[in-house]
Amino acid sequence: MDFTELANAYAELEKTSKRLKKTYIVSNILKDTPEKELDKVILLLQGRVFPQSDERELGVASKLVVKAMAIATGHTTPQIEDLWRKKGDLGLVAEQLCEKKKQNTLFSEQLTVAMVFNDLQKVASQEGIGSTDQKVKMISKLLSMATPLEAKYVIRAALQDLRVGIAEGTLRDAIAWAYFKEADPGYDLSNDSITPINRETYNEMIDMIQQALNKTNDFLVVAKAARHGIKELEKIELAVGNPVKVMLAQKVNSVEEAFDVVGRPAALEYKYDGFRMQINKNKNDVVIFTRRLENVTDQFPEVKARVLNCVKADSCILDCEAVGFEPKSGKYTPFQQISQRIKRKYDIEKLAETLPVELNVFDILYLDGENVLSKPFIERRKIIEKIIKEVPKEIVLAKQIITDNDKAASKFFDESVGKGNEGLMFKNLQGVYKPGSRVGYMIKLKSSMDDLDVVIVGAEWGEGKRSGWFTSFTIACRSDDGEFLEIGKVGTGLKEKREEGLSFDEMTDLLKPLIKTQVGRDVTVKPKIVISVKHEEIQKSPSYSSGFALRFPRVTVLRDDRSTDDIISLVELEEQYFKQRKK
Ligand code: AMP
Repeated sequence: MDFTELANAYAELEKTSKRLKKTYIVSNILKDTPEKELDKVILLLQGRVFPQSDERELGVASKLVVKAMAIATGHTTPQIEDLWRKKGDLGLVAEQLCEKKKQNTLFSEQLTVAMVFNDLQKVASQEGIGSTDQKVKMISKLLSMATPLEAKYVIRAALQDLRVGIAEGTLRDAIAWAYFKEADPGYDLSNDSITPINRETYNEMIDMIQQALNKTNDFLVVAKAARHGIKELEKIELAVGNPVKVMLAQKVNSVEEAFDVVGRPAALEYKYDGFRMQINKNKNDVVIFTRRLENVTDQFPEVKARVLNCVKADSCILDCEAVGFEPKSGKYTPFQQISQRIKRKYDIEKLAETLPVELNVFDILYLDGENVLSKPFIERRKIIEKIIKEVPKEIVLAKQIITDNDKAASKFFDESVGKGNEGLMFKNLQGVYKPGSRVGYMIKLKSSMDDLDVVIVGAEWGEGKRSGWFTSFTIACRSDDGEFLEIGKVGTGLKEKREEGLSFDEMTDLLKPLIKTQVGRDVTVKPKIVISVKHEEIQKSPSYSSGFALRFPRVTVLRDDRSTDDIISLVELEEQYFKQRKK
């Protein structure tokens, strides 16, 4: 398949913000893609060359791309950087420069999807001395073969910043449109509307694909199955060792409201202030994933040993919260204290002693070859009660009571907060486990004004002594359409030295590879780094795209267990704004 076809689709996608039209464009590309290229096209549509579960990174920095462009187009680095400053996007720069390229490349070989994909994968595998030169060479070779439009997207794919806006929901719907006649939406290009023959069947198909995605967390597996029909899609099952999207909690503000959502009686549990661990056990093998499904097994050898000793099952997938405690007093500590354990690659054994975690198991998804997602929560709890041998401060079940009584619930809430927890979770006794969904089977009730989880979308270089660091950060929430909307700038809370906690220096290291544009001292960055922020108040503000701003924001911790899906939404922000006004 020629890369031009994909480049044209990217260009069409970029031109429209209409979700249905985007779905139409993607579904057409999927229809045209031969089976053997499907894996490449599905990944490239997501702006990736490795599946999410693969830890390899493309690792192409903007500077490297500038060098590659210089070689391929014969322009100097300063010329290219100058143009970059003007256009703010290296993809556009590549497009313009390739237009001016000498005629002789007109007769060169046609770029194919396979060439671009394979070469970008090879770029990622270059390591050690001379690897940068190799990477530059490979990218410049692709550029020298590319038409201007192809060049634009080769560069953006290399930088993993396609800017064509394909949300996960769009790709999901496009799979249905492309492969299921029953889901033919009857898309009308002239007025951008759909009229499925049978709306119910249409919704069922979309839901089926979503469920398959939640179980596998992999568009590729799902698209391949869907291409071979509904029967293949139905066969998709949970597999131990494959991360599954976790079920998310809705938020309420009072005990009564919590019962209203989950019904009475309900199971109430401590809401521990740690981080989520999805534990996959298969005989002697244990794999641990965070909430954003990153593999952190190596960082938690003690947890792995406990699971092997204390979980009486051949194979299972457990949902848990790992919570830190002070080694001497045994008192729970907030997430902030143990956050460094998630990433730390050295001194792991020592860290496990100074920053121990207790594993609180609260759910199960799979047991000995059987998917237990559709069993009611109360039965799933009985399973974990049976298979887990509790050892205090090592592995225990989440502390739980079952009640229909507001007073008992409030008392349990106070008890939980008194022990250093965040509040309570309320669970519907009959609720099934819906991977990836924020359905009302699990409700959170917290004690205080929340820290907000936000994503960094921009930063500003410091001055004088701090000129090598970013010292101020533009933060954003998300809209329902997956856009990022600014809610202010934050600079306080960060430390001067790494030993003291999250430092300017560490943040700079994290953000530098994500830089998209730079004008003067201000940069924009790819939205990837999630932080928690404390604030005094939420105010209305015309200065930021969300329409709100935080008063006196202060960074509390880096949430590298969380992704941009987990940050606060505009709707939640508005809710908090009105709640605080009522008070
Ligand atoms: P939040 O992080 O505020 O969205 O709250 C939901 C998170 O609370 C879950 O993702 C878990 O990591 C955590 N959590 C703590 N205790 C429990 C529990 N008993 N049941 C479910 N989730 C819990």
